[in-house]
Amino acid sequence: MCYNKILFKTKSINFSTFKQYYSQQNVRVRFAPSPTGFLHLGGLRTALYNHLFAKKHQGKFILRIEDTDQTRIVEGASDQLYKDLIWSGIEIDEGPHTGGEFGPYVQSKRTDLYREQIEVLLKNGSAYRCFCTNKRLELLRKEAVRTRQIPKYDNRCQHLTENEISKKISSGESFCIRFKLLKGYEKFNDLIYGDIVYDITLNEGDPIVIKSDGFPTYHFANVVDDHLMGITHVLRGVEWQISTTKHLLMYRAFGWRPPLYGHLPLLINADGTKLSKRQGDIKISSYRENGILPQALINYITCSGGGFKRDLEQNIKPKCFTMKELTDQFNLENINVSSGKLMPERLLEYNRLEIERKLKIPEEQQKLCDVLKNLIKETLIDQKSKITLQLDDDHIKKILTWSVNRINKLSDLVSKDLNFLWIIPSHDVRFDSKEMERVSKLQSILNENDDGSFVKENLEILLKRFSQDNDYDYKRFMKLLRTILSGLKEGPGVGEMMEILGKENTLHRIDNFLNHNKIK
Ligand code: GLU
Repeated sequence: MCYNKILFKTKSINFSTFKQYYSQQNVRVRFAPSPTGFLHLGGLRTALYNHLFAKKHQGKFILRIEDTDQTRIVEGASDQLYKDLIWSGIEIDEGPHTGGEFGPYVQSKRTDLYREQIEVLLKNGSAYRCFCTNKRLELLRKEAVRTRQIPKYDNRCQHLTENEISKKISSGESFCIRFKLLKGYEKFNDLIYGDIVYDITLNEGDPIVIKSDGFPTYHFANVVDDHLMGITHVLRGVEWQISTTKHLLMYRAFGWRPPLYGHLPLLINADGTKLSKRQGDIKISSYRENGILPQALINYITCSGGGFKRDLEQNIKPKCFTMKELTDQFNLENINVSSGKLMPERLLEYNRLEIERKLKIPEEQQKLCDVLKNLIKETLIDQKSKITLQLDDDHIKKILTWSVNRINKLSDLVSKDLNFLWIIPSHDVRFDSKEMERVSKLQSILNENDDGSFVKENLEILLKRFSQDNDYDYKRFMKLLRTILSGLKEGPGVGEMMEILGKENTLHRIDNFLNHNKIK
């Protein structure tokens, strides 16, 4: 749809009024998704900024499910949205799953309240019953298209007399209820975009607020709920900015004080294209399933579009901030008005940094250890039937520490190349005694090595020297050691494998092999 001119003034925000406003009352913000699908990056960002804003001002964050359009509801979406928010670290103070004194928090359970409120508008003349049939509305639309006008309702039923209305009702004619829009330019101060001036009647006819089935439309329910739930600030996607004038006119019609509105610019792909809900990769659950940690994802969506007081160093050396740090840095004044471009190259780096951060905290380290343990079991157990896994916490934690600068995701540690870390080799093939003797000799030499020098470079030199001194074909020797250490034919170099396993494990695996061949 092509809109008539909307006047944007850049960033002339009256922050002092705004600060005064929220210092006078407790901040209450809400995230109000419609359960029409999964939570995606854009939705998560809206929820997050509301959450951070609430935290910053010791306010409350409310989750409200806007399900007035019953035809678009996707079963289970509401629960999934909730789970995704919780997984992301967003704390919900009030909502359908949490409860609260302003409930119910699902719009389809609030129809009595809307019915009550529409009576107020009908009585004071700000709303009216409309009996126009779909057929008439369709004809109006077609005519507008033919004459190149903006298709909009012509507000005909605004002019029905009381008498006409009563007659139509008693003859059982179906009707909806429309809100009377006021002509003229209206101005509001967007907390992010500055002054917005718009005459909505240039583009829209009077909007339906209660449908013929008695259900409210989004606009009406949204305004009534924001008011009844005591919402002080509405932070939502910029796609709703065009509706805000309509919402403010409703507040005026009710005689209510409106919340302050701030619209968040679009989040777009790095190449400037729109994020599409159909793109599987913007789904929060697919990030989770792909081994991305919640705080890495949170940092990913906050690094585009401003809003945080970060030092310039951030651009050179990224840091994965905690929720607390993000809350301290968050500032509406710093949000850019241009679309925020995602930086996909940062995501895995944030994930690596988050793993590194967690490993320094014992409880978090334990959690990572448990997650990895499950991942290993899930990936490896049904691959081969007769395998023994080395899954003691000590071993897993050692590997995690070793891997800090080497992996971006925990799942990198269950890649095929690294399976030897977890599978204890079983030795079915017998080797001749000469070879056994050499291995035993090597074991004693390795034993003398201190832990610190048990690194790839040193080990490679040691192994080369050993095969020369013992007149043993290097390649053949490596093949044997690889079998001893991993039971596999491929994988990283033997020196590297020893380093990753560590001295204790290496010796232990050699021991196993020798014992099995009973020459020790
Ligand atoms: N239900 C709307 C949505 O799905 C909410 C818009 C608003 O925050 O006012 O995005």
